[in-house]
Amino acid sequence: MSEQAEIGVIGGSGFYSFLDDVTEITVETPYGPPSDSLFLGELGGRKVAFLPRHGRKHHLPPHRINYRANLWALRATGVRQVLAPCAVGGLQPEYGPGTLLVPDQLVDRTKARVQTYFDGEPLPDGSQPNVVHVSFADPYCQSGRDAALTAARGRGWEPVDGGTLCVVEGPRFSTRAESRWHAAQGWSVVGMTGHPEAILARELGLCYATLALVTDLDAGAETGDGVSHEEVLKVFGENVGRLRDVLFDAVTGLPAERRCGCADSLDGFDPGIRLP
Ligand SMILES: [Zn+2]
Repeated sequence: MSEQAEIGVIGGSGFYSFLDDVTEITVETPYGPPSDSLFLGELGGRKVAFLPRHGRKHHLPPHRINYRANLWALRATGVRQVLAPCAVGGLQPEYGPGTLLVPDQLVDRTKARVQTYFDGEPLPDGSQPNVVHVSFADPYCQSGRDAALTAARGRGWEPVDGGTLCVVEGPRFSTRAESRWHAAQGWSVVGMTGHPEAILARELGLCYATLALVTDLDAGAETGDGVSHEEVLKVFGENVGRLRDVLFDAVTGLPAERRCGCADSLDGFDPGIRLP
């Protein structure tokens, strides 16, 4: 496939479209279909592919998303840099609704998700992935983080620079005890989709950065009735316009040439499969 995009945006809950003038394409992958079509467009001279993470009608819960297919499809379309907005709960009282946090760390609390391309299972083309252990000490691309932070500041939305995104299995929200425990570890926000997206991007040599929009205080950080999905969508709806603006600027702020090292994640390994 010829390269039709260079930058991918994966939209989360409440974020189902990005650019107005788009070409819709469907992409097949060895792992099955991605969450939806890819929507290709251009922004400031950069070619962008948008993918709604849950499908455009939000039919996929976090644990049913085919993360491997999503990242593979983006790469197959030419994407090498990914920006991934998501809705999260604040684990610390200072991260209330409307906070934009660009995490620099991640804790995986998911339970039942395939989180590697290198699991020994042959692909339909007969190739067999080898055992590969990529470095994940710093799970996010610093160039992507910088672009997101600069874009937010430029739009007058002071972001939180750094913090830990705890990713839970879902689809339920946390109990108060779980939430208090997450908070006591010093973790910043909690979400359901940031993993395995981040590691799969790393395994494919993609740049990946998350923009976490706080839609609620998680159960342990507030004293009310706990989180509801309506509340999440309401706060997301109130912020989706400015989040889109920040993403516009972040896309055009990404470096045209990658010097961050993300592309080298498989250096020293024979992956055994051909990356798209
Ligand atoms: Zn990078």
